[in-house]
Amino acid sequence: MPSDYDLWRTQLCKHGPRHAVHDDCQFAHSLSDLLFPNESRGLADRNWENYHVDRWVGQALSEGQVSNLGKYYEDEQRRKPWSIPQWAHGLQLIVSGTEKTRGLSLQWDFGLQSDVAMVLRGRGGRRAWEWMEGLWDRLECRKEMMLLSMRPVRRLVDLKPFTLVPYELPPHTPEGDD
Ligand SMILES: [Zn+2]
Repeated sequence: MPSDYDLWRTQLCKHGPRHAVHDDCQFAHSLSDLLFPNESRGLADRNWENYHVDRWVGQALSEGQVSNLGKYYEDEQRRKPWSIPQWAHGLQLIVSGTEKTRGLSLQWDFGLQSDVAMVLRGRGGRRAWEWMEGLWDRLECRKEMMLLSMRPVRRLVDLKPFTLVPYELPPHTPEGDD
């Protein structure tokens, strides 16, 4: 069984954000407080597969998780929209089916590639859960939409080649021209 310590702040508190006054509550009280589980005891697969992790990196979520994440998202949109992490915006846009056309100021993948790399590095490169079906196809589609929308701007103000995939850096550093 995972201990409270392994799952410290990996799930949102069902009592809501006001419960944050209870320092000893193991649950997170805002989206930005959510952490990855401590996987040093080799319980990585079970923690993710048993829906103990609300911090979304593309893993399948239970209906209860999606509902709870949605409640916190709506509340934070009203009270402190600046503190909502990119992955949470991404989840909300993907769940509502509007990721292709809204939130174009956000990264094409909502930072998920980088988050996945961080999780896999921690566990020695193992793949531990099934990806949400079709997620990466949708994100690639979103990237194409963003590239289309940026093309006119690029012609006018920026003729240098660039990439919208910040976490797949080319093997060499691009030549500087300033
Ligand atoms: Zn709590």
